[in-house]
Amino acid sequence: MKKVIVLGGGGFIGGHLAKRLLNEGCHVRIADIKNHEFWAHNEICNEFIRCDLTDPKSVELVIDEGVDEVYQLAADMGGAGYIFTGENDANVMHNSSLINLNVAKECVEKKVKKVFYSSSACMYPEHNQLDPENPNCIEDSAYPANPDSEYGWEKLFSERLFLAFNRNYNLNVRIARFHNIFGPQGTWRGGKEKAPAAMIRKVCEANENDKIEVWGDGLQTRSFLHVFECVEAVLRLMKSDFSGPVNIGSEEMVTINQLAQMAIDISGKNIEIYNIEGDEFFKKYGFKCPTGVRGRNSDNKLFKKKIGWEVNQPLFEGMNNTFDWINLQVNK
Ligand code: NAD
Repeated sequence: MKKVIVLGGGGFIGGHLAKRLLNEGCHVRIADIKNHEFWAHNEICNEFIRCDLTDPKSVELVIDEGVDEVYQLAADMGGAGYIFTGENDANVMHNSSLINLNVAKECVEKKVKKVFYSSSACMYPEHNQLDPENPNCIEDSAYPANPDSEYGWEKLFSERLFLAFNRNYNLNVRIARFHNIFGPQGTWRGGKEKAPAAMIRKVCEANENDKIEVWGDGLQTRSFLHVFECVEAVLRLMKSDFSGPVNIGSEEMVTINQLAQMAIDISGKNIEIYNIEGDEFFKKYGFKCPTGVRGRNSDNKLFKKKIGWEVNQPLFEGMNNTFDWINLQVNK
């Protein structure tokens, strides 16, 4: 039986990944600082270890000998309201770097056969993402580096860390740069939720003829990938002999207003979009409107070439599926 460890399996993508690996017959150990919010331990793993992975002693205990695969998804992270305000920069850099430093070293010590590391599209340079119609996120555009957030800088550092352990200690690594993953069982309130969940929640909570707030002018572009396709892509990357870094995302780019409109259309309610920005935003929230880069889209050419597979679910389908789940939570 394949023995796998999912670090950060108490979170959104890690939970889905662990559940899939468990269903495929693997022996799954999860380590996370918190329990999964929506699933019981036995639904997603054989063993759940509650611990702080910034502590090297915990990582020593979690990663033992005889492990086939480690999936490293643990990170101090959240949506724009968490990583782009500047308020959490020190924690994001300190905590996530410590986790990755501990994990890379321990995987070598315990001779783990293969390690997956989840990087982010946030590591791409800001100067290539100023035009919302035409962002460039092709893998080799990463340098000269200029991410627009400390979260992105930490991801870039940790990609290099895992690649250095690969070169110097033969650690067998696979690195993916995720582009906005969404879906059910994800954070949908509280400040760490991402745009699709935030839009859907606002729409579900709104009454007929209400307005929902969209941060910024809503013309910034992004693409969003459903978590089931993300997990499929991760497993295919792990089976391949390509180390990456490679994008895992959707190429269906939309504006944030279009994303909000999609949620409104699914609800069938008559709701208007209200774009809040500038002074009005600052007065209300006490920080600058955290919209991130103007444009971002996945570029999947390298993934298709190296892995021979591509994601293909339309955004609307994924939004529909996520809407049903968030609507249930809102009405609980
Ligand atoms: P998430 O916040 O739901 O999951 C991260 C998990 O890490 C959480 O369960 C958290 O408790 C755990 N964690 C944080 N600090 C820890 C610590 N000190 N010790 C142990 N566990 C700790 O986030 P997610 O959306 O599932 O993202 C998973 C990974 O993918 C992260 O590395 C994230 O940076 C990356 N990523 C996600 C997206 C996205 O759109 N969701 C995009 C790009 C990259």
